[in-house]
Amino acid sequence: MKYADEFRDKTIAQGLARAIGAEAGPRRAYRFMEFCGGHTHAISRYGLEDLLPANVRMIHGPGCPVCVLPASRIDMAVRLAERPEVTLCVYGDLMRAPGSQGQSLMRAKALGADIRMVYSTLDAIRLAEQVPTREVVFFAIGFETTTPPTAVMVRIAEKKRLRGLSVFCNHVLTPSAMHSILENPKMRNIGGVAIDGFVGPAHVSTIIGTQPYEPLVEQFGKPIVIAGFEPLDVMQAILMLVRQVNEGRYEVENQYSRAVTRQGNRRAKDEVSQVFELREQFEWRGLGLVPNSGLKLKRAYAGFDAEARFAMHELRVADNPACECCAILRGAKRPVDCKLFGTVCTPETPVGSCMVSSEGACAAYWTYGRVR
Ligand code: SF4
Repeated sequence: MKYADEFRDKTIAQGLARAIGAEAGPRRAYRFMEFCGGHTHAISRYGLEDLLPANVRMIHGPGCPVCVLPASRIDMAVRLAERPEVTLCVYGDLMRAPGSQGQSLMRAKALGADIRMVYSTLDAIRLAEQVPTREVVFFAIGFETTTPPTAVMVRIAEKKRLRGLSVFCNHVLTPSAMHSILENPKMRNIGGVAIDGFVGPAHVSTIIGTQPYEPLVEQFGKPIVIAGFEPLDVMQAILMLVRQVNEGRYEVENQYSRAVTRQGNRRAKDEVSQVFELREQFEWRGLGLVPNSGLKLKRAYAGFDAEARFAMHELRVADNPACECCAILRGAKRPVDCKLFGTVCTPETPVGSCMVSSEGACAAYWTYGRVR
């Protein structure tokens, strides 16, 4: 497959592994966090950790949008969907995400709520046009990659005067989450050992570019290498991180130069900035309340804000104490550290969001048979 096979070449991967082994040397340990669930899956799927020397370890980060959505927001969505006038539009991987009492949108749908699985924001627009008497609410989640389509949807809705369409906005921001991890001594020193740098997200960076990471490396002195999702991308990014650490550098480097620029996608960023503004804080599963890490609709688009339209109240609920998702999303534990992994909790019977989501670390370990 053109543009994929070139980045999965076994011989080149082995060459990169030898280079990492030679340059990492035995004198110190290296701990790098891959922020993104897509990278966690690439690492598990291609067995990349087995290619790395024992002193280079990867820590899985919180970059999975379904995983980091707290149970409170699922509970709010379920309550919203239970309203008789509401049709809730949801991306498929959210359907089984667990709320605080194990409830989910799937269960709410089975009990009669009008919940529709959609593939894009355009589906929500079509539905709002087809059923103008219904309150069609789009459950918007995701990092900077999925925010532009939501912004475009709102602007189309305004243009078409689709007054029945609104957004339950849960869009979150990557640099703010990285800041939160680096700022918190417990998170940046997992198990007493410091994180030495980040493999930065691929798709998110195609939108925001590499520039937003520059203040982070300046403030915290940790390198960030933006990487693609193929195995050679990840291996090369790890080599670039090892080199930065060895040379005492901390810079934003761009391994994924075939898709990411410093500026990012200006058109997409413009769409987002027209419609959204920062929330003061947003709750993340695992990270807690993170300042300036979420988006809400601007005042000019307040009529499309489902939280205002339906007077939805913020909830504070506890996570299932048996599930280790929070610790996994902080990088403090691995899926196999959870007693429920592979026994009570599997993709068929998921207990936590990290097993529900196709980008979750528990789903990656299960799917690719990682047992350590
Ligand atoms: Fe939660 Fe299941 Fe992962 Fe355990 S295996 S942390 S219960 S999602």
